[in-house]
Amino acid sequence: MILLLEDDPAIADTVAFALRREGFVVEHCAWLAEARERLRAAPAPELLILDIGLPDGHGLDLCRELRNGPLSRLPVIVLSARSEEMDRVLGLELGADDYLAKPFSPRELVARVRALLRRAQAAPAPTLGFTVDGTRVSLDGVPLNLTKLELGLLTHLLRAPQRIHSRDALLDAVWGSSAESTDRTVDTHIKTLRAKLREAAPARDPIKTHRGLGYSLEP
Ligand code: CA
Repeated sequence: MILLLEDDPAIADTVAFALRREGFVVEHCAWLAEARERLRAAPAPELLILDIGLPDGHGLDLCRELRNGPLSRLPVIVLSARSEEMDRVLGLELGADDYLAKPFSPRELVARVRALLRRAQAAPAPTLGFTVDGTRVSLDGVPLNLTKLELGLLTHLLRAPQRIHSRDALLDAVWGSSAESTDRTVDTHIKTLRAKLREAAPARDPIKTHRGLGYSLEP
């Protein structure tokens, strides 16, 4: 099932029609609140098509929530009325898998949906090699001796692997709203964390730096 969150009835109808014609099952919501409720229910959708401008909020907020929750691997295509680079970067940073600027052709969207579903089905759950037991973490069976902040960073990255986490998001999640913390703080602790991971499993190096965007954890 594909969940379509779009408040413009004309666009929603066109998209739903194009997908159903290709054999997809589509459920449609026009409100963020409705989509949040639907996403908590079973069965989970296989893919989410998400409009950015919605009557009760910003679509990218939902994207961020998803990436930090149990549906962190749900493929998401973002639809935006603006083709601005900032929206695209922000969308991808917040965990969208693909991005289409309006107006788009329904055929193009169907092709992107197919490609994403194929990719999602082909990708097995990533084997990252970490085992977490309370505050004890090991990598490939080697126990890691982490500081509280390194542990915070790692568990946050582990909650949504293969997603880019911005320095701001990491600061928020691990340090809270402490005034003394800066982007540099994140970089410093990532550096020490990385060194410890390298020591435990030299071949892995799972933390990837995305210039200007943040960090992700890769298998
Ligand atoms: Ca809209």
